[in-house]
Amino acid sequence: MFRKILIANRGEIALRIARACRDMGIATVAVHSTADADSMHVRLADESVCIGPPAARDSYLNRAAILSAATIAGADAIHPGLGFLAEDASFASMVEEHGFGFIGPTPEHIALMGDKIAAKRAAVAAGLPVVPGSDGPVYADSEARRLASEIGYPVLIKAAGGGGGKGMQRADGPNDLERALSVARREAAANFGSDAVYLERYLDRPRHIEVQILADHHGAAVHLGERDCSLQRRFQKVLEEAPSPALTAEERERIGSRAAEAVRAIGYRGVGTIEFLWTEGTFYFIEMNTRLQVEHPITEMITGIDLVREQIRVAAGEPLGYGQEAVRFQGHAIECRINAENPRTFAPSPGRVTQYHAPGGPGVRVDSALYDGSFVPPYYDSLVAKLVVHAPNREECRMRLRRALGEFVIGGIDTNLDLHRALIEDGDFVAGRYDIHWLERWMRST
Ligand code: ADP
Repeated sequence: MFRKILIANRGEIALRIARACRDMGIATVAVHSTADADSMHVRLADESVCIGPPAARDSYLNRAAILSAATIAGADAIHPGLGFLAEDASFASMVEEHGFGFIGPTPEHIALMGDKIAAKRAAVAAGLPVVPGSDGPVYADSEARRLASEIGYPVLIKAAGGGGGKGMQRADGPNDLERALSVARREAAANFGSDAVYLERYLDRPRHIEVQILADHHGAAVHLGERDCSLQRRFQKVLEEAPSPALTAEERERIGSRAAEAVRAIGYRGVGTIEFLWTEGTFYFIEMNTRLQVEHPITEMITGIDLVREQIRVAAGEPLGYGQEAVRFQGHAIECRINAENPRTFAPSPGRVTQYHAPGGPGVRVDSALYDGSFVPPYYDSLVAKLVVHAPNREECRMRLRRALGEFVIGGIDTNLDLHRALIEDGDFVAGRYDIHWLERWMRST
């Protein structure tokens, strides 16, 4: 087992990882930019190293500085967290070349899944159903026109290197295609360094349902059920729940075991998430994330499995030690992503937190690096807290969430707490009746 882990991240996720390390008796090294010197993730780590100025490219994305910090501190492994370098195959290679353990999958698997076209091909080969579309990159407009009419409009143009909803454009008909292609290519080139795009059928009102998997170095893999992440704004998840209110137990077992089989087939190891769109009883693979997800706690709540601990254990080469039959699902869990943002414009709302009170009580977990007097810097993601609630069933979970949202106080900065408070009262939410466009429709109507 590792003795000392460097956590190459910040904020709540760095804290989450530090907590797992401490539970396992592993020492932790925090890294931070100059803007984060007083952050909670620095305070709670055993040691910390400043890796550069505020801009992420000079600090949290600065590979050389992170590797130097690991060397100086005598760490034996690096946990990338999520975002930043977590899905950067070249960083994973560098970590290994420098003799550190990388707490994540192999660089080859990261690269495979980072190329969404290659990922889709791998999914097909591993027996997963995918959204109908071009089976490779589309270069010429004429080729795109031919393919789009074969697939049927509306079509979605997606960046091969995509992520975060960037480089995604919908075309409603042939007249719209040229515009959509050029916008998608431009966004793809600007964000991912390649303008390669591909086409997919645009599914009208699907749900986003993703399956959590966990695999070791010895060929064992299990699934930990699904999360419903359909409540999104601009392709960004806002509230997630597990299990999905839409699936039957039989559907859950079927998609879960297919996902576990697929990761076994490609020889994947570590934690991972296979994302599907689901409509009228059919699943369509869209992508695989080769890292811990923001919404992983709801899976931890319903399975009782500490995903970060398992991730560290399998990265150290330990066998999983249990099979699918040992994974039990209990109750219902919901996560609200609390962002520092203006409730009307959604612009980030950095600043000093003048008052902070986190909810507690039965079934309530808050993952956050905020504290009274902490400063939310303007340089990074606006997610500042995750409120995660667990109860024996969905309605009790919703009531508990209402109670917890009522107790939550974050003063001095704007947040989307009121959005969550209103959202969970809506009749459609209460009934679990929503798709990936529901939240945007609801926001326009309220
Ligand atoms: P990214 O990597 O940019 O997050 P994804 O492929 O995961 O891209 O898709 C993000 C979101 O975009 C999905 O959760 C879904 O809301 C929407 N989406 C993706 N593919 C389709 C599709 N074929 N039809 C309709 N919506 C889609």
